[in-house]
Amino acid sequence: MRADVPPLASRATAVAGSPVRDILALTARPEVISFAGGLPAPELFDTAGMAAAFHAVLDEAPRSALQYSTSEGDPGLRAAAAARLTARGLPTDAADLVVTTGSQQALSLLTAALLEPGDVVLVEAPTYLAALQCFQFAGARIVPVPSDDEGLDPVALEELVVAERPKLLYTIPTFQNPTGRTLPADRRQAVASVAERHGLWIVEDDPYGELRFAGEATPWIAAYPEAADRTVLTGSLSKIMAPGLRLGWLRGPAVLRRACVIAKQAADLHTPTVNQLAAARYLSDTDLDAHLAMVRDAYRERRDALLAGLGEALPEGSRWNEPEGGMFVWASLPPGYDATAALRDAVAHDVAYVPGAPFFASDPDPATLRLSFVTHTPAEITEGLRRLSKALRGHSAG
Ligand code: PMP
Repeated sequence: MRADVPPLASRATAVAGSPVRDILALTARPEVISFAGGLPAPELFDTAGMAAAFHAVLDEAPRSALQYSTSEGDPGLRAAAAARLTARGLPTDAADLVVTTGSQQALSLLTAALLEPGDVVLVEAPTYLAALQCFQFAGARIVPVPSDDEGLDPVALEELVVAERPKLLYTIPTFQNPTGRTLPADRRQAVASVAERHGLWIVEDDPYGELRFAGEATPWIAAYPEAADRTVLTGSLSKIMAPGLRLGWLRGPAVLRRACVIAKQAADLHTPTVNQLAAARYLSDTDLDAHLAMVRDAYRERRDALLAGLGEALPEGSRWNEPEGGMFVWASLPPGYDATAALRDAVAHDVAYVPGAPFFASDPDPATLRLSFVTHTPAEITEGLRRLSKALRGHSAG
C-alpha cells in the first residue's frame, strides 16, 4: 500500500499563477513583436566590457571569485553602488548596503524580516506583480492606495494608514512598473511625512530611476529626513547593466539590514561571488554612465516611436501616458473594452502586450494594458503597432 504524501503548504496554492502567462507563452515565436516583457534591449548590453571584467577577475583573483563569500556582499561592489547613490544625492556608505540576488530578493528578504501573516501592506494601484506575489506568500493583507496619473494620492494614503494600521507601504515612485508613472516631489515629501507621523516602513523600489531620458530627477523618498530612518531603498543592476547578473541591493537602517542578512543566509547564503566581483570590476574599469547615455538615447527613440503610433493603433477614446524614462507606457482602452480578451487576437496577429488587470491587488481595471517600448527597434515598434491596430479593430466596447 502507498500512503499519500502530505499536501502542499496552503500558501503554495493560494498564490495564483497568471492565466495571462499561458497566453504570453505563445509569444516566444520569433515573428512576434512583443510589447509584453520587461526585457532590457539585449543588443545594448555591454557584452565586451562585461566579458573583460569576468576574465579579469577569473585571471587575477580566481580563488576568491570562485569561493563562498559573505552574506552582506562584496565590499567592492557595495562601495561602488554606494558611490553611485552618493553621486545622485543620497549620501551612502558601503556599510549601509546589503547585496541581494536581484532586487527581487530584496523584496523577499524584507518580507521575511517584516511581515507576519495578516499584516497589512499598502501598494499602489496598480503595482508590480511579483511584489504582490511576494507579499501574498507571506499571508499579508494587501490594500491598494488610490492612485492617479501622478502616482499614489498622499491624502488617501494617510486615511488608509489611520484606518488599516499597515506595517509597510511598498512603492515604486520613479517610472513605475507597470504604469511608467513618476511621483512628484511634493507627494514624496507628503508620503515621508505620513510615515513620520503614523509610523510605518516604506519600501522604495527603484530599478528604473537611472533610465531617465527627459525631465529632471526627483529626490528619493529615502532622502527626506522625515522618512530617512524608516525607508528601505532597493536598487538593481538589471536595467542598467544586465538582468542575468542577478545583482541588486537594499539600503536601510542597521536593525533591518541585520534581519535581512539572516534571512538571506537561509535563502541562498550569499549572491554569486563571481558575478559580484565582475560587476565591481566593471564599475571600476568602465564608464557605465557613458554606456547608459547611449542606452537612454535608444530608449527615448523607442518611446517616441511607440507614442507616435499609439493614436492610430488604439481605438478612439483610448488614453495613455508619456513617461520621461523607464520602460513602460500605460494605456486605457475606452470603457467596456477588455484588454485580456483582446490579447488572444493580438497574439494571433503576432503582437503582444500585458493586460493591466493582474497588476491590481483588487478591483482590476480590465480596459488597461502595459506596453514596454525598450525591447524592439523603432521600425519594429511601428510594425507592431500596425498589427495591434488590426487586432483591436475586431474588438469593441461591451
Ligand atoms: N521591482 C520592480 C518594480 C521590477 O519591475 C523588477 C523587475 N522587473 C524588480 C523589482 C526585480 O528586478 P531584479 O530582481 O532583476 O533586480
